[in-house]
Amino acid sequence: MQESREVIPLVDLSAQYAAIRPEIDTAIQRVLDSGAFILGHEVEQFEQAFAAYCDVRHAIGVASGTAALHLALLGCGIGPGDEVITTPLTFAATVEAIAHAGAHPVFADIDPRTCNIDPSAVAAAIGTRTRAIVGVHLYGIPIDVDPLHTIAERHRLLLIEDAAQAHGARYRGQRIGGLGAAAGFSFYPGKNLGAYGDAGIVTTNDADIAARVRRLRDHGRSGGKYRHTVIGYGERLDALQAAVLRVKLHHLDEWNTRRRRAADRYRELLAGLPAVPQAVANDVEAAYHLFVVRLSERDRVLAQLHAMGIGAGVHYPVALHMQPAYAHLGYGAGSFPHAERAAAEVLSLPLYPEITEAQLVEVASALRRALEKAA
Ligand SMILES: *Cc1c(COP(=O)(O)O)cnc(C)c1O
Repeated sequence: MQESREVIPLVDLSAQYAAIRPEIDTAIQRVLDSGAFILGHEVEQFEQAFAAYCDVRHAIGVASGTAALHLALLGCGIGPGDEVITTPLTFAATVEAIAHAGAHPVFADIDPRTCNIDPSAVAAAIGTRTRAIVGVHLYGIPIDVDPLHTIAERHRLLLIEDAAQAHGARYRGQRIGGLGAAAGFSFYPGKNLGAYGDAGIVTTNDADIAARVRRLRDHGRSGGKYRHTVIGYGERLDALQAAVLRVKLHHLDEWNTRRRRAADRYRELLAGLPAVPQAVANDVEAAYHLFVVRLSERDRVLAQLHAMGIGAGVHYPVALHMQPAYAHLGYGAGSFPHAERAAAEVLSLPLYPEITEAQLVEVASALRRALEKAA
């Protein structure tokens, strides 16, 4: 098999920059001229705009999505002695945030149709120390919020959203980010709303949680530059990223619409193939951070696609309970069969707002050939 240049990448950030270059360059120049680089006016403006976009009362800009989740948990009062339930099929940062908050991560298996956490598995994982559920809107598809709320209310648990992959998605008409006690968003460059570096934000409708997160992100300061009321962190959002994000936020709905259109087109093009697209319930509007299909012989198909210049990816190849870092939690092969099976079968196809019809057709036909070769 001959190695070739990637002709269709998994994501194409330069295509996006090319489309909005004058706006971005103006915003960056404005920050450089202002001489203010950490927090300040740009960050406040973006926080207000993002809160309005998510239809929540508070948004607190932080240094990354990981920091957003960590500080959201701390802001909700989660700490040592608490158990927090989450999915084993997510990016490692979800579980890192729980562990760094001092809590004990507990996994609950996924619903194989959506790859999101299964509310009945959550119910079965609840113990006397359980304090919260971190639901991940994986691939941009909202979690099944109503049953999770019912469970959370019955057991007096907090629902916290990992919204890193789902900016702008809706659950029963409501934007994600305000569906629980707090949410953490990532603006990692490849996310639906991406900065040009690391950035993140916490959203919440709770003024106390917001105040705690604000204090924690900035060295525990409150009421003065050198007054530290709690031991905090250096996890602030910077002005350059906020200025970039403010520009990009205006385009997010349009970009998400294009992602949905591309996803619908993939569904048409892949009909009848033994590569089954991720199910999306009809009461949600997915943000399609990724377009994921499931197939057997995934690794062989992936190798074929790479050889054909298609930048397919895998999210994620190993469920977190099978990672060395989380071996101490005491799970093993067979603990979460749906997540383990998904990790072996999922394949992400190239998807970004600027993807063209010709590229979608080329990816679909490459996948058809790869499936034949791998069979
Ligand atoms: C990207 C991501 C994060 C972490 O965000 P960073 O900005 O990279 O720190 C957390 N959870 C999920 C599901 C993600 O995809």
